[in-house]
Amino acid sequence: MNNLLETPIEYLKGVGPARGELLRKELGIHKYGDLINLYPNRYIDRTRYYRINELQNSNSEVQIVGKVVNIKTVEQKRGKRLVATFTDNTGQMELVWFQGHKWIRENIKINVPYVIFGKVSSFNGVFNMAHPEMELLTEHEQSLRSAMQPIYPSTEKLTQRGITNKVVNKIMQQLFIETQALFKETLPANLLQELALIPKNAALFNIHFPKSQEILAKAQFRLKFEELFFIQLQLITKNLIRKHKIKGHAFDKVGDMFNGFYQNHLPFELTNAQKRVLKEIRNDMGQPAQMNRLLQGDVGSGKTIVALMSMLLALDNGFQACLMAPTEILANQHFSGLSELAKPLNLNIKILTGSTKTSERKIIHEELENGTLDIIIGTHALLEDKVQFKNLGLAVIDEQHRFGVEQRSKLWKKNEIPPHILVMTATPIPRTLAMSLYGDLDISVIDELPPGRKPIKTVHRYDSNRLKVWAFLKEEIAKGRQVYIVYPLIQESEKMDYKDLMDGYESISRDFPLPQYSVSIVHGQMKPAEKDSEMERFAKGKTNIMVATTVIEVGVNVPNASVMVIESAERFGLSQLHQLRGRVGRGAEQSYCIMMTGGKLSNDSKVRMDTMVRTNDGFEIAEVDLKLRGPGDIMGTQQSGVLNLQIADLVKDREILQMARHFAIRLLKDDPNLNRSEHAALKHTFIELTKKKNIWNYIS
Ligand code: ADP
Ligand code: MG
Repeated sequence: MNNLLETPIEYLKGVGPARGELLRKELGIHKYGDLINLYPNRYIDRTRYYRINELQNSNSEVQIVGKVVNIKTVEQKRGKRLVATFTDNTGQMELVWFQGHKWIRENIKINVPYVIFGKVSSFNGVFNMAHPEMELLTEHEQSLRSAMQPIYPSTEKLTQRGITNKVVNKIMQQLFIETQALFKETLPANLLQELALIPKNAALFNIHFPKSQEILAKAQFRLKFEELFFIQLQLITKNLIRKHKIKGHAFDKVGDMFNGFYQNHLPFELTNAQKRVLKEIRNDMGQPAQMNRLLQGDVGSGKTIVALMSMLLALDNGFQACLMAPTEILANQHFSGLSELAKPLNLNIKILTGSTKTSERKIIHEELENGTLDIIIGTHALLEDKVQFKNLGLAVIDEQHRFGVEQRSKLWKKNEIPPHILVMTATPIPRTLAMSLYGDLDISVIDELPPGRKPIKTVHRYDSNRLKVWAFLKEEIAKGRQVYIVYPLIQESEKMDYKDLMDGYESISRDFPLPQYSVSIVHGQMKPAEKDSEMERFAKGKTNIMVATTVIEVGVNVPNASVMVIESAERFGLSQLHQLRGRVGRGAEQSYCIMMTGGKLSNDSKVRMDTMVRTNDGFEIAEVDLKLRGPGDIMGTQQSGVLNLQIADLVKDREILQMARHFAIRLLKDDPNLNRSEHAALKHTFIELTKKKNIWNYIS
């Protein structure tokens, strides 16, 4: 049976080499087994037949039984059209074709009963159906196809070359005939029973040929569960393997650095969330297994101090630490922030980026190798082969979504025993999604902001109100505050965005003229050194307004900046808007976020604006984002990729996901190596899947 599923698709009756090639190229279907897993996108309920005198001009899809009584070509100004008169015993209507006349004329049978299906509309009191799906009534009655008609994924090319939905349906029937629908069960019997799941066989049959909504729902549930269950099995085993097999340095000392800092130099009381997270990290790093932890915390939640104190633990145990940031600006900011915090400790902290001078670079390389450099902060430059550590104990990675998984592991390879890894992200990913995306990482969450923060006031304003907004900015600047004005930067339209930015900058410079005001600008086409010096001027309060693209989205910290104006806000995603807003509200003053848009907004844009105005809670925003866009688009999963799921949907099927995770954990606790006889089929499937699709392939 399993061998049969390995059969190349062209051998299936009704496919052949030409169609086989198309199926391979267009849908990635190589074998019988791939076709079986081509699940319909949706189903059309064809349980009901209409009579012609019942038709309404509702533009909905209906099916009718009747006969073609004549067929003729009608000349039009723009090309010809083929019109057939179609009747049943209640009335008559027209079938219309704009293309494919020859084929239809040659193949349509006159005065033979057909079942036709399609959208009806009426014109001059006559109902018509354009390009109907047609099937002889006799064939229709014999067909394995059920009343719930599946609609399969397709491409333009497939339809053009005659592989219509009907054809896919036919070859699917053929597949079930040739394989006799004997598909092996993959889940253990007790699980099927406990969760009332239908067998694999029945599920596959009914996903393709459901007879009712009820059985279809059961089939979908079973297949979704199975898909998520196997992914969870993979993620959890990966995590277990890491904990057992990947050695790590056990930081068993909590020494002078950590304690000294904690007792004497902590600039503020840690929040409970920070304390809890630090405990989790300490616990992990105390074990002789590598830590691989994701630290989630909304913008401004205070991740930096957690990172520093984790690094101090590494130093206490005689190791070095590094912090890697996605941009030079951010690396600089971390460097100055951490240096400031750690000043009383007399540590050797340095920064390495693309613009570090060769002479300085040489010193850094040497000091890293001889161990005199305690903490190195930097960008991708840290990943270069030349960078070798004496003993790297902890690597902190900020804003993880900018780095791929591969880069993460590149850091490991620098030492025989890999360093502990702490990945920090400000992108609040809902827990359920985080679980499935980062199931191989442990997760810590800082879910509490430092005390005394005034919530940022967020408003939505139309471009037509710009004068009022500008007047408000002038008031704030008069109080000594600073302002960000951010323009979108979308890769596909970079040139246009750049022009918008420059136009904006010019008009802002005109509206906020020297010498009373001074305006900075930072964008992607500037050299890193220019960017930094411009940022520096703004950070030092020498300019009032910072005009920028999303370059500043990540991590920049200027506490005196209290107003964030987002231009063309409708072009930003929710999590990006939230990240941008997080640039303000860092000081003691009341902060504001003003989202500017044009007059016409799509429904989704409206929801985004309303959500931003309503709440400051990153996790709530992430939930809305997830619902609006689906997980594939959530920032942070874009770069790291997203689970390429066949049937389950991480948004809609979150309950099934949770269930799958629960039962996967239970099963692995029970039988970690899947050695029990009742798990044989499951183990087989698991191994096959892992061979074919390592979990990181889902995520790349
Ligand atoms: P993020 O999580 O966005 O990286 P930061 O670490 O930059 O946040 O912290 C944001 C600001 O909050 C910084 O100015 C930091 O000094 C301050 N901060 C962090 N933790 C606390 C705390 N427990 N109490 C008061 N202020 C804090
Ligand atoms: Mg930060």
